[in-house]
Amino acid sequence: MELKLTDMPAVAESSEEMEHVKVLVLGAGPAGMSAALYAARAELNPVVLTGNELGGQASLTFSIENYPGFPEGVGGGELGDLFKKQAERFGARFEFDLASEVDLSSRPFHVKTYSREYLADSLIIATGASPNHLNVPREEELTGRGVSYCATCDGWFFKDKKVVVVGGGDSALEEAVFLTRYVKSVTIIHRRDAFRAGAILQHRARENAKIDFLLESVVTEIVGEEKVSGVKVKNVKTGEISNVETDGIFIFIGHTPNTELFKGQLEMDPKGIIVSDALMHTSVPGVFAAGEVMDKTYRQVVTSAGMGAAAAIEATRFLEREEVR
Ligand SMILES: Cc1cc2nc3c(=O)[nH]c(=O)nc-3n(C[C@H](O)[C@H](O)[C@H](O)COP(=O)(O)OP(=O)(O)OC[C@H]3O[C@@H](n4cnc5c(N)ncnc54)[C@H](O)[C@@H]3O)c2cc1C
Repeated sequence: MELKLTDMPAVAESSEEMEHVKVLVLGAGPAGMSAALYAARAELNPVVLTGNELGGQASLTFSIENYPGFPEGVGGGELGDLFKKQAERFGARFEFDLASEVDLSSRPFHVKTYSREYLADSLIIATGASPNHLNVPREEELTGRGVSYCATCDGWFFKDKKVVVVGGGDSALEEAVFLTRYVKSVTIIHRRDAFRAGAILQHRARENAKIDFLLESVVTEIVGEEKVSGVKVKNVKTGEISNVETDGIFIFIGHTPNTELFKGQLEMDPKGIIVSDALMHTSVPGVFAAGEVMDKTYRQVVTSAGMGAAAAIEATRFLEREEVR
């Protein structure tokens, strides 16, 4: 479920709106929601700032077939709603707000949002990741006019039309297959001659009569004035440029962690992934990280949820130790 920043109140101006909480969770994807559930069951009354995507990236996909407990699969949005309901049942509070500034230099940590300020005895960072852009001409101007990063959100607008999907991982193939529910045809454009996606997804895509492939090729430009009418594609082996007519382009070429806010305050790797140990501890005691902000290996709903649970257990232990001290 996507919330718009414009739905959110203006930045807090007075400290009267300051609230002191034991556990503040940043992010309401699988990691943040699970952290909230565990912190709530430890009676820590966590507050969760959802950002503008309640349910996180998982809510962008039509069906999740690999989250245990749902043998028939579960809708991404539905799973997010269930996570939220379960955490709320034990006392977690969700705020449709976005952390805009953090100060981790002393405890309690200081977090500013679009409506107020929080002081937090412990912080769980689960702000996930956002889709990478191709960074080619016309991409920005035509976003929402044929350029999309979410098949579940936008697929319906391309009923009986031609689209291209860019990418070769699980998301690209999964979303390409999903798009065939609506569209006339999907061309998958991938820079290599082999896919990173799992075998089952590759099989499904290859078996689908509506899908064809343009391999060892990259999109160099998106074409169109008011809306997308085509893409320019370069063959990486021959250098040959061709024009592919299309009504839409869906881009699934990986993600960048949403960690800009914490730069200079937490240890990170060169890609902006928060460095944390096996117990989800970051370089600042009392600050924990979970999910795609710190995980560059698994990046799944189930693993992110597991890391969220671990982060909340560690935050609980941290607060207990601090109280004893
Ligand atoms: C199209 C697609 C299909 C997928 N399909 C599957 C699948 O079938 N199975 C599977 O296991 N995985 C799938 N994944 C991957 C899975 O969705 C992610 O691994 C998982 O959602 C990561 O969880 P997360 O909680 O770490 O982060 P995210 O899901 O990215 O959630 C991040 C949260 O942080 C919030 N946020 C961001 N910035 C701020 C801020 N400044 N302040 C407050 N909140 C903030 C966002 O609003 C969001 O709520 C898919 C991903 C995509 C994109």
